[in-house]
Amino acid sequence: MNTVCAAGTGSFLDHQAQRLGIKIEEFGEIALTAKRDVRIAGRCTVFAESDMISKQQYGFSKAEILKGLSKALVRNYMNNLVRGRKLKPVFVFQGGVAANIAIKKAFEEEVGHEVIVPKYYDIMGAIGIAMLAKDEMKRTGKTTKFKGFEVSKEKFETTSFICKACPNECEIIQIKANGKVIAMTGDRCGRWSNSVI
Ligand code: SF4
Repeated sequence: MNTVCAAGTGSFLDHQAQRLGIKIEEFGEIALTAKRDVRIAGRCTVFAESDMISKQQYGFSKAEILKGLSKALVRNYMNNLVRGRKLKPVFVFQGGVAANIAIKKAFEEEVGHEVIVPKYYDIMGAIGIAMLAKDEMKRTGKTTKFKGFEVSKEKFETTSFICKACPNECEIIQIKANGKVIAMTGDRCGRWSNSVI
């Protein structure tokens, strides 16, 4: 898990797949057909996108660009998160991006070892947080605030406004469920987010 914007984020891959006119589900297979390597700047999503556009103009194929992007994301992950630490097997790749076989392969080439994608790779974070919540309830005796699966049928709405209370002028995002404000975010000082806890 990380907060680095270009370190393997699914939304960035989604966006690039869409821009290249392919389905995200096809990304990995197409990338694996690439005949040549091309280096894509992957440090930042904005630079990566402009680099991909110029590499397309230089004549690299869609598959080669996708392969280059896969390697760039892995390189970025190694530079920003691993930061020279020695990695030892077993390697496990989890999260939605693990569905992408080209990124799995790029990781395997990078670490020189098999990378395992577990069966429930896409919900491991949810399983983990559920286990932590269960432990916490056992330890503290707290009761659950789980609203039930019916929550998926509630009507959610997102709006935003600019807070003018100081020169920062934060954009405050407001989330409403059935017309009632349930969360606010985007404030630098907690003025709004703390008001709905
Ligand atoms: S949310 Fe806080 S930091 Fe942001 S503009 Fe309002 S008062 Fe300033």
